[in-house]
Amino acid sequence: MSGIVAVVGRPNVGKSTLFNRFTESRKAIVNDVAGVTRDRNYGKVEWNGREFSIIDTGGYVDGSDDIFEDEIRRQVHLAIEESDVILFVVNVEDGITELDNGVAELLRKSNKEFVLVVNKVDNNKRSLDATEFYSLGLGEYYCISSINGSGTGDLLDEVVNKLPEEIPVEDEDLPKLAFVGRPNVGKSSTVNILLDENRNIVTDMAGTTRDSISTRFSKFGHDFIMVDTAGLRKKRNVNEDVEFYSTLRSVRTIENSDVCILIIDATRGVEAQDVSIFNLIQRNRKGLVVMVNKWDLIENKDTNTINEFKERIHRRFAPFVDIPIIFTSAVTKQRIIKVLEEAMIVYERRTTRIATSKINDVMLPVIEAYPPPAYKGKYIKIKYGMQLPTHAPTFAFYCNLPQYIKDPYKRYIENKFRENFELTGVPIQIFFRKK
Ligand code: GDP
Ligand code: GDP
Repeated sequence: MSGIVAVVGRPNVGKSTLFNRFTESRKAIVNDVAGVTRDRNYGKVEWNGREFSIIDTGGYVDGSDDIFEDEIRRQVHLAIEESDVILFVVNVEDGITELDNGVAELLRKSNKEFVLVVNKVDNNKRSLDATEFYSLGLGEYYCISSINGSGTGDLLDEVVNKLPEEIPVEDEDLPKLAFVGRPNVGKSSTVNILLDENRNIVTDMAGTTRDSISTRFSKFGHDFIMVDTAGLRKKRNVNEDVEFYSTLRSVRTIENSDVCILIIDATRGVEAQDVSIFNLIQRNRKGLVVMVNKWDLIENKDTNTINEFKERIHRRFAPFVDIPIIFTSAVTKQRIIKVLEEAMIVYERRTTRIATSKINDVMLPVIEAYPPPAYKGKYIKIKYGMQLPTHAPTFAFYCNLPQYIKDPYKRYIENKFRENFELTGVPIQIFFRKK
């Protein structure tokens, strides 16, 4: 459990500049997953050994007019519901505006941890101007310049201080499953089928945060934990149809899981929002099973219908195509159990370790057959590879000039890994290191 930080504030105060500064600093330390488009609004930050997710809620407000007041209130409500710490960003150039006062009031009334961030304090004179923000009644503030970076280190220290303690989850070794997808795809229906059949052996257990209730249940002799079942039962007060809100709701659920079951509505096909949730799953390197639900509503099905649908999914999720896809109906209960079985298999694959000797027996000939292209006349020699002792499968290959190995070659190696080892539904990371 890492923690979620939401950035709120009026347009143009510098939220996305701050977001970029925080997420870019991390990019230098940890390689992003190759092929996952960088999300403008969701990123991971690492600071002093703590990792957290950061969400720029403002990025979703489209740019103009007086819809702002409502929209920003909604952002703040959502941030209060879904995050651990809120960064409330104001702009020293503008001073306090009416909207700032409104946001401050919402924050004062909530019990949420927040930090008041006065941005665009590019020089000392401006830090004197910043004192007016005391009158927001939020106490201490942090002066920063998102553009030149000053003050951002102290701000990060404070954010990490305010993150909740990392509490070990009960039954840490059981597979934690998350059912995610946009509204109306059939998440609740599916979860209810699985839990109702288990009525006697279902236990609700408090999760790592106040509102995330998870449920422990058994099926074919295996115990599972279904993450965030409360989220599927609770009625929310913001408009679920707005893409961003349901994507944001998925963040914590995904982070708390081992394997995600991404539900897609067969009658709608793959939509932009499905791709956003898919990207969140990839960025968090969780196991994945795609469940195409409402298959009962598709008429005149033949064998091609399934293949065409699979191809559409592959096109939208490329380059990640090595994923189990199951066609289901939560109404007839067709193949719902198959989904659970597949999730179990993905969970096991994700925790399997591959012996160094096996990796090299398979991969060294593959590398020899197609070595990395020479760079500026320098030959790149890969000596050996091994799995690293991390949570999700990560492999390192040791070589003389790792910096010259480009993405297409990394992808070639990943594809060969997938051809030779059982990794369907499992994200992997491959690093090249100096030896
Ligand atoms: P958002 O709408 O709140 O996400 O704001 P943006 O991050 O898009 O920034 C709005 C404008 O303010 C851009 O032109 C930024 O370059 C500028 N800006 C952001 N941070 C700073 C800062 O620390 N100092 C100064 N002088 N300008 C900034
Ligand atoms: P959620 O918002 O993702 O939790 O979706 P729900 O489980 O509430 O389902 C939304 C609607 O779709 C409800 O009216 C369900 O009865 C219906 N629905 C869910 N799964 C299926 C399915 O497989 N086939 C059909 N025909 N309807 C379904």
